[in-house]
Amino acid sequence: MAKKKTTFNISKTDNYSEWYSEILNKAEVTDLRYGVKGFVVIRPWGARTIDKMYKIYESALRCTGHETAIFPAVIPEKNLKRESSHVEGFAPEVFWLDKQQGDEKLALRPTSETAFYEMYNLWIRSYRDLPMKLYQRANVFRNETKATRPLIRSREFQWIETHDAFATKKDAEAQVQDDIKMTDEVMHKIFGVPFLPMKRPEWDKFPGAVYTVGSDSIMPDGKIIQLPSTHLISPNFVKAFDVKFVDEKEREKTPWLTCYGPCMSRILSSIISIHGDDNGLILPYTLAPYQVVVIPFYSEKSEKKINDAVHDLKANLLNEYIDVKVDNSDKRPGEKFFQWEMKGVPFRIELGEKELESGEVTVFIRDIREKVSVKIDNLAEEIKNLGAEYDARLLARADKFFEGRIIDCKDKAAIKKVLNSGKIARFDFCSAEAEGESCGEFVEKELQARVMGTRADLDEKSFGKCPICGKKASVVVYAGKSY
Ligand SMILES: [Zn+2]
Repeated sequence: MAKKKTTFNISKTDNYSEWYSEILNKAEVTDLRYGVKGFVVIRPWGARTIDKMYKIYESALRCTGHETAIFPAVIPEKNLKRESSHVEGFAPEVFWLDKQQGDEKLALRPTSETAFYEMYNLWIRSYRDLPMKLYQRANVFRNETKATRPLIRSREFQWIETHDAFATKKDAEAQVQDDIKMTDEVMHKIFGVPFLPMKRPEWDKFPGAVYTVGSDSIMPDGKIIQLPSTHLISPNFVKAFDVKFVDEKEREKTPWLTCYGPCMSRILSSIISIHGDDNGLILPYTLAPYQVVVIPFYSEKSEKKINDAVHDLKANLLNEYIDVKVDNSDKRPGEKFFQWEMKGVPFRIELGEKELESGEVTVFIRDIREKVSVKIDNLAEEIKNLGAEYDARLLARADKFFEGRIIDCKDKAAIKKVLNSGKIARFDFCSAEAEGESCGEFVEKELQARVMGTRADLDEKSFGKCPICGKKASVVVYAGKSY
């Protein structure tokens, strides 16, 4: 019989694509055998991680004045068609249902502005109703024409969408900045995924938006991935649904709307890709389905004693809200170590007679693969401390990787070189408005990359010329290759 493989051992750096596919399969994050292209089954290991992500995000949303709602997954054709740029943007990706409502076609929601606004027309009457800040946890459906990749680009994905309405443009724009802050506080600081908040160039905004801010991160292969985005919705879109309110002076006005869409499944693909190593997954302590795995070692006379100790230890950790799994399976210890390491459990504890006698256990730390001794009496508190250090380490490592990937460029040759080496090029650019589009097309066609946009969180001054057309630059842009 062939010896079981005891390391995952695929180089993430040299072969990211294979690494990614293999780890999703081996760590039981997803299963691709469902048989419908672009649709994947997310297994408990992935689903529990996503569930933790949802809970953290939703608690952040409630803390910033959002309420939750549950909207239907079907949208009547007339809603989708009410605003022309929106329908044009989404039409190729819409899944239409075979079953109609009378003569009217029904779509599976690709996003829910046109569902929410239907109701905002009824719910928003006066300035007293504003701001109205609602979100829903939802699956949305897009018939992607590009190649799909599990979690990165699927035809059904798991996200949150917020739809916020304000009396003034100023309030709505403050919400856009708050959304960027939330992405930083949750996705960056807690999940350890660094990003650049990019105001998209005019030619690349959300259909129906005044402007769009996308959060761009980078994968180990140097490809840019768009994570949560926020849109300041165009007044025409809002007017198309006849959403209006009466202000303090009895004047009828159109409210300003924003929407924000953090996609849990896609963010998970970044968490997996950024933190993992050649031994498999590394999940942040905060998100790991099991934060601690306990592996008991029995000897003949000690079985009851060990079982009692394991039982107490588990109860003690659960009592402190630490997710713990006791692995009592009949696998060999080496196999158990390999499995839990590959699945990215942050801490492994071995418990046998020796540990009971000394009152101390050895804790194996997944990311640095080191061991520390911890007193059993103090275990829960120590695990929490180690967990905080663990997540801080992942964040620092991810930040260092990310910052080293943004390179200033002065000319076309330098931009090309940076893009081809899997990095993000930062350079002066003529304009992010419509007149810059031909230079944007050059980047797309000649350099096979995308102008991601300008910084939405700070005002970067440009002093030079656009390296593409030679005109005086008005903005500093970032460009990268994307999926
Ligand atoms: Zn230009």
